[in-house]
Parts: sequence; structure tokens; C-alpha cells
Amino acid sequence: MARKQMIHTLETLAARIEEVGECDEWQGYHQERMPYVHHRGRMQSVRRLIWLLMGKKIEDGEYVTQKCRNGSCVKFEHMKVVTHQEMTKIAGTHVGKAASRKRKISLARRKGSKLDEESVRQIRLSTDPAHVECLKHGIGRSTVIAIRSNRIWKDLSMFGGLMR
Ligand SMILES: [Zn+2]
Repeated sequence: MARKQMIHTLETLAARIEEVGECDEWQGYHQERMPYVHHRGRMQSVRRLIWLLMGKKIEDGEYVTQKCRNGSCVKFEHMKVVTHQEMTKIAGTHVGKAASRKRKISLARRKGSKLDEESVRQIRLSTDPAHVECLKHGIGRSTVIAIRSNRIWKDLSMFGGLMR
């Protein structure tokens, strides 16, 4: 069941970008109001991808954000890499604290579960029917359905809409 993997280059990405004012806006899929694309078998941030395709580096815990604050903008000249701490500052100290507390609680609840964030991601991205996914991960079919409808294991990205 090898599915064909899409491998993007700056050229194939450019086909889905349109110049709007000062910015280059992504015309494709958005996840949490950020440009995303299927690349090498998984969903990836378009900004991060362009950043890497331009030969730039990004460390663990760093995020590519846009200086122009345009949610759909993927213009390389508008990109800026920030650390997790800087991102928290941008998001506002108050919001950052609340989000990390919520995240801690959720992560604690998940301990001891058969699932981890990676398998949850796989379940969400997979196009296999629920009865196949539940066999792969040793969980119930209703759990697969609940994950896919985002009723459980809600996406915990801390700064939805801002980072990557
Ligand atoms: Zn921009």
C-alpha cells in the first residue's frame, strides 16, 4: 500500500502562491490558520519547508514566523526564526502560561495510554478506514473515530495561528 509521496521544491510550491500586496500568500491548505502542505508523506509547515529549501537551518524548538503577521504569508523575505521563549513572549505571557498549564494537564492524562502524539498524528493523517487504524495501534474503533473528530487528543499546538 505504498502511496505516492509528494516531494515539493520551491517551484512546485510557487504554483500555489499568489502575490497579494507586499506578501506572497499561500493558496493551498491551512492547518490551524497556517499554511500546510503534504510533503514526503506528512503534513508540514510551508514556511518551515521554504526556509529549509532556501538552505537555511532551523534548530529544535525554533519556529518560522512572519514579521508581517499575515497568517497566509509564506514570503521568504518576511520570515523570521524565533525560539520557543520568544514565541511565548510574542503570544503574550499570560496566554503562554495558560496554554502550557493546559498542555501539562493533558499530557499527564495521556500517560499510560497506548497512544502517543506521534501515533495520534498518524491516525489523523492516514486515509485508512477506522477499523484498519484500530488494528494498527491496538485501540478501539471508537477511539480512532474520536481522535479523528478531535473529541479526544485535541491538537495541543501551543500557539495555534502564530508559529511555524
Ligand atoms: Zn508577508
